[in-house]
Amino acid sequence: MRRDRRRLLKAGFLALSLGAAQLARGANMVAVRIWPAPDYSRVTLESDTPLKTTQTFVASPPRLAVDIEGMQLNAALRELVGKVQASDPNIAGIRVAQYSANVVRLVIDLKHPITPQVFSLTPVAPYAHRLVLDLYPVQAVDPLEQLIQQRIAPTLPSLPSAPGAALALPSSPASVNDPLGELIARQSQSAAGAAVPVTPPLATSTRRQDMQAAPDTFMDAPGRANRTTPSDRTDRLIVVALDPGHGGEDPGAIGPGGTREKDVVLNIAKMLRDRINASSVNGNPMRAYLTRDADFFIPLHVRVQKARRVQADLFVSIHADAFFTPQARGASVFALSQGAATSAAARWMAQKENKADLIGGMNLGGQDNQVQRALLDMSTAAQIKDSLQLGSSLLREIGSVGRLHKPRVEQAGFAVLKAPDIPSVLVETAFISNPEEEEKLRSEVYQKQLTEALMRGIQQYFARNPPLARHRGI
Ligand SMILES: [Zn+2]
Repeated sequence: MRRDRRRLLKAGFLALSLGAAQLARGANMVAVRIWPAPDYSRVTLESDTPLKTTQTFVASPPRLAVDIEGMQLNAALRELVGKVQASDPNIAGIRVAQYSANVVRLVIDLKHPITPQVFSLTPVAPYAHRLVLDLYPVQAVDPLEQLIQQRIAPTLPSLPSAPGAALALPSSPASVNDPLGELIARQSQSAAGAAVPVTPPLATSTRRQDMQAAPDTFMDAPGRANRTTPSDRTDRLIVVALDPGHGGEDPGAIGPGGTREKDVVLNIAKMLRDRINASSVNGNPMRAYLTRDADFFIPLHVRVQKARRVQADLFVSIHADAFFTPQARGASVFALSQGAATSAAARWMAQKENKADLIGGMNLGGQDNQVQRALLDMSTAAQIKDSLQLGSSLLREIGSVGRLHKPRVEQAGFAVLKAPDIPSVLVETAFISNPEEEEKLRSEVYQKQLTEALMRGIQQYFARNPPLARHRGI
């Protein structure tokens, strides 16, 4: 008994002295990164041991002060100052200084008030410990607003979206509930030279109300109900959500030549966006909405939420992953599965894709996130049926420009395909792990061929499943 106690004491002493040694040495900064985006700007401090920090937000002028304990000002931290881009939507500048013998103070000067989310991430390949400072603008970016900003509209007049533009809420309840109808109305007003109100970004609480209201509206989802009596013209935009995989801290797969999946898929998504924005379905203009149009991380469920917010008619997630072996080649298309995956490879791929949140770095403590992810665990049987049709159309067309990995649409539990009311597929355009396919993915010719194939697949799907007029009350 006494010996046990002595052993425990000895172990305690060891732990204490280890802790003291670590503190004396301090944490070593491995790398610092900044990911600017309109949605939020992220500052990542990567270190060999967890960082102990305290932070204070000062409202006027807006700035976030972060004190890092047990830290000496070093070259890596100084680098942070020069890494701020003038175009960063949220960060005006960063200052660093040795505040006291053992504390480094970081001051992030902000362009406007922000809601900071500060959290730590334990090591996950390829990263050591990460301290993440996510700086969300208090005036949250509304995906609908982004849809307006992202469009390149050769066929439609441009809308003012400058900060100085007049702000006004849609006035009638019907238009509040039909934001895309409102968008079209504004476009026609703009054509007539009338004043164009811009929808103010939604506060987070409003978004949450949206999500809570959502289950009641699934039955009336666009493109779903009453397929038997489609109208030819619906007088609305047909919105295709394009979801370039990965981004920011999550590079996705990396090819043997160093090509990063996140860059290739963003390129393809932008090319497809331009094609979509120049097209129409039965005379209805098409619009692409990109869940990200820059290099930053978005959690999987947020990608889904964004697509739902713009009432997307389709959701296409674009990837170019690695596989077990460099020999694997060819494109694949996946839909959601509510039960088992259709193959071991599909299950493996879904598990791999679903890890994006871990690598990208999500604040798991965020209550909003938990609530909103839970809302996506709903019945998706009808969605899956439509998704399989969409997938088949895409697969057929991709097969005409390149090799297919599997001739059928495969199914597995991909988190990003869980919108209960939007046909959703994930396209693996090629295996970046295959040196030949990596080369192809980099080639503009192949990117163009692929874009055309995806476009034809989308049009074929709509030819067979004409989009319907939106129901009032959505
Ligand atoms: Zn991927």
